[in-house]
Amino acid sequence: MDIYYGVLIFIFGLVLGSFYTVVGERLPDGKSLINPPSHCPNCNHRLGILELIPVLSFIILGGKCKKCKSKIPILSTLIETTTAILFLFAYLKFGISINLFVALTFISMLVIVIVSDIRYMVICDEVLIIGNIIIFILLIISIGLKASLFALFYGMTSFVIMLSIKTLGDMIFRKESMGGGDIKLMFTFGLVLGIPSSVASIFLASFIGLPISLIMMKNNKSHELPFGPYLSVAAIILLLSGIDIINVLVNM
Ligand SMILES: [Zn+2]
Repeated sequence: MDIYYGVLIFIFGLVLGSFYTVVGERLPDGKSLINPPSHCPNCNHRLGILELIPVLSFIILGGKCKKCKSKIPILSTLIETTTAILFLFAYLKFGISINLFVALTFISMLVIVIVSDIRYMVICDEVLIIGNIIIFILLIISIGLKASLFALFYGMTSFVIMLSIKTLGDMIFRKESMGGGDIKLMFTFGLVLGIPSSVASIFLASFIGLPISLIMMKNNKSHELPFGPYLSVAAIILLLSGIDIINVLVNM
């Protein structure tokens, strides 16, 4: 790894992560992404340039608003750091290549999905559509049109598999077993990871999600929990792990 690129990509991840938090928190609510500018949720104090630096500002300000001293939610800092670390891992795995940009787009989509699904139980179509288009164009550049059309087919197949699981789940549980967003998400998984990894992500997500859901249900008594974040975490693990045999990206 070239340390210069590594640092650059990490900073890039911090800045974009900060933007993704804004997208994930505002888009499902129909709010503008630029207006109002970032402000303290407590006193509406508009953040200056020095208060907007990802992570650093949080540390310098001691996690408190400069004006009213109320606590700044840690979520944003957490998302920024996570995005940066994931970007760095993607660079370590793919190097400087078109595939790296596919991976970064994929991670970006999923970070927004995680924020919006946790906050509103919504996965925005805009995010999925824009992400899919960017990924498809990058795939054509990276692996050629023919292989990209195969990837498209993998996406559609994964979508149909998830739709079948949902239909079956609805029949068994006699209620909505899964959100539409989770099914649409599976199209992107198929496109980037291929069919076996997409199916694996469902199992991995259930494996990660089950204990967490049980604990949350016990404490909150809430029975509606988003599945999207678990799917996203699972997909990122599969993308960045060493399981190359089943990745579209690495196979072609
Ligand atoms: Zn404040």
